[in-house]
Amino acid sequence: MKAHDGMYIDGDWRPSAGSSTIDVVNPADEQVIAKVPAGTARDVDSAVAAARAAFPVWAATAPADRSARLTALRDALAARRDEIAETVTAELGAPIGFSRKVHADLPIAVAGSYAELAASYAFEEKVGNSTILHEPVGVVGAITPWNYPLHQIVAKVAPALAAGCTVVLKPAEDTPLVAQLFAEAVHETGLPAGVFNLVTGLGPVAGQALAEHDGVDLISFTGSTAVGRRIGAVAGGAVKRVALELGGKSANVILPGADLTRAVKAGVANVFANSGQTCSAWTRMLVDAARYDEAVELAQQAAAKYVPGDPGHAESRLGPVVSAKQRDRVRGYIERGTAEGARVVAGGPDAPGGRERGYWVRPTVFADVTPDMTIAQEEIFGPVITILKYEDEDDAVRIANGTVYGLAGAVWSEDEEEAVAFARRLDTGQVDINGGRFNPLAPFGGYKQSGVGRELGAHGLAEYLQTKSLQF
Ligand code: NAD
Repeated sequence: MKAHDGMYIDGDWRPSAGSSTIDVVNPADEQVIAKVPAGTARDVDSAVAAARAAFPVWAATAPADRSARLTALRDALAARRDEIAETVTAELGAPIGFSRKVHADLPIAVAGSYAELAASYAFEEKVGNSTILHEPVGVVGAITPWNYPLHQIVAKVAPALAAGCTVVLKPAEDTPLVAQLFAEAVHETGLPAGVFNLVTGLGPVAGQALAEHDGVDLISFTGSTAVGRRIGAVAGGAVKRVALELGGKSANVILPGADLTRAVKAGVANVFANSGQTCSAWTRMLVDAARYDEAVELAQQAAAKYVPGDPGHAESRLGPVVSAKQRDRVRGYIERGTAEGARVVAGGPDAPGGRERGYWVRPTVFADVTPDMTIAQEEIFGPVITILKYEDEDDAVRIANGTVYGLAGAVWSEDEEEAVAFARRLDTGQVDINGGRFNPLAPFGGYKQSGVGRELGAHGLAEYLQTKSLQF
């Protein structure tokens, strides 16, 4: 695959200050498909300096001009749709159909949404005898994970640019190629040099240098809770703004009168998409005692349709997980689930048949799961679904809210009002009612340890603004 051997800093591709590289591996067959530079603290310094220098001019541009640049960025991404999809399939292992529809089309839509919001957002408002100015925060350090690699980049960079901030991006080391494609698209839009900068590299080196940098005003991080906690502490110490989008263990609550077949099918599809590597996945299915066995059977049947297959083939529905580390982690959880007494009704810890190479995990369904089990508490981040039984609505609320996370969730009911009343009792940032579609304008983010701050839409833009009040 095509790769740049430099960093995109101050409007150009430049050699790294160091000489180390990172191998980019195709998780379907373990082939090294490219090498990218492993950025150093000096690269981060250069990128932050470029972003600082570019900030005053970019912050002062008219919102309509920023909107025009974001429209150009949306168009530049759209022109690369196939290349984006093929790149994500190669470095993440997502099936090509999913890569086109989600990994490419979603960020294109989000870039478009910020082109519109940059033009329509009220950057000034009147309150009594005051005029409130919503001004850009400054230089943004964006640190992103590998699971939705372009979406997570665009969900940070597009609102930051719309707000008038400048950006240094440190993408995940597993998926740097689509980040380079993004930088190419930015370059094509003719953004002033230094407004957007890319430093590829390892988390504890380049990521940490960015999070700790004095020249960064806001850190926006998506990834594991462990790293998020450290970044939050560093930002707190420096009195720096911080947004954290961390893990999840979302509940899919099927209320007694709901269409069970539809709810179970949608629930299984939700978890197995992207090989279970979705922070908002509904990894805990909650079913009432009377219909529990039926739900387990339906889930087993639905899971049988997810046969691991070559991600490059149009008909594949389930690819590998991203890395050997992730495969071992997921298989470890499957073993732990069995050891703690849960019943495997589909899948299991072994490699799927015929897959000697690559980071494959069998799509796995666990029944007889109780809320205290590790697999019902911790984020597995693989194609593993747990099915839990509840006695009544209060019990379902207790189980649904009974983890440290609160990112997403679902409620199914024959009565929409009943579903909404239930959703109000959930400690979580998003709830899909009866299979409601993902809305790229709705605020996305966590309650409890799932994070701080919101992404997407107007709420996502507000994260990159600070307010000044003028009194008359
Ligand atoms: P991670 O938190 O280690 O990595 C996310 C990003 O942070 C990457 O760009 C990484 O380079 C960077 N990073 C790592 N250490 C850093 C440090 N000390 N300072 C600054 N930046 C640092 O996540 P991971 O190892 O890729 O995945 C581990 C687990 O995280 C997953 O199994 C999953 O549970 C969770 N995860 C959650 C999400 C999400 O969207 N909520 C996404 C990816 C991973």
